[in-house]
Amino acid sequence: MARMTVVCVGAHPDDPESGCAGTLTRYAALGHAVTVVYLTRGERGISGKSLDEAATIRSAECEAACRIIGAKPVFFGQIDGATEVTQAQADAMKRLLTAERPDVVFTHWPVDTHIDHQVASVLTIRAWMSLPTSSLYFFEVNSGSQTEGFLPNTHVDISSVVEQKKAALFAHISQDGQGIWRQHHEIMALWRGREFGVPAAEAFVHLSRDNHARNLPGL
Ligand SMILES: [Zn+2]
Repeated sequence: MARMTVVCVGAHPDDPESGCAGTLTRYAALGHAVTVVYLTRGERGISGKSLDEAATIRSAECEAACRIIGAKPVFFGQIDGATEVTQAQADAMKRLLTAERPDVVFTHWPVDTHIDHQVASVLTIRAWMSLPTSSLYFFEVNSGSQTEGFLPNTHVDISSVVEQKKAALFAHISQDGQGIWRQHHEIMALWRGREFGVPAAEAFVHLSRDNHARNLPGL
C-alpha cells in the first residue's frame, strides 16, 4: 500500500488521544505518516499554574503521547479558552493542512459543549474544503458531556491497540488521563465495539462527499 499522510486536528492536548489514538496508532504501525495538530497547548488546563507553565507541562505530555502513537506533534499556536475563528486563522489552518497534503483528516465533531472543540472543527472543515483529495472524519470526545448529537457512520476496530490508546491518554498526567479513560472513553470504546461487533472500537462521522460507495444496493 502506498504511504499515506494522516492528520488529526484537536483543540487541546488529550483530545486527539481521546478521540482517535487507536486509529492513529494503527495507521502509524502500518508505516503511514501521522501528524497530530494541537490547536492550543491547554494553557488553562492546570489550576494554580500560569498559562506558560501549563503550556510547558502539557506540551511535554503531548510529545510523550505522540511517541506512543508514532505521530509527529504540531502546535498551532492558539490559546486554550480564547480560541477564535477568523479569516486569518482559517488561512493559517489552510496553509498548514495544504503543506501536510493529508489523505485522511480527523477533527472534532462540530456540535460540542466546548467552544475550543468547535473552533478546531470549523477551522479544519474550512481547510479541508481546499483539499479535494482528502477524506474528512469527525471524532467524538466525552460523548454526552462534550460531543453531542453524534451518529457515527464509520467504526474502526481498536481491540489490538487499546493498550497504546490508554498509554497515550495516560501520558496526560496533568489532566488525569486515567480518569478520562475510566469515566468516558473506556465506556465509549466498549459501546462502539458492541455496535461494530468487536471488543473495542472508535467511531467516526465520515463526511461522505468523497465516497460514493455507500449507496444502498440497487439504488
Ligand atoms: Zn478538549
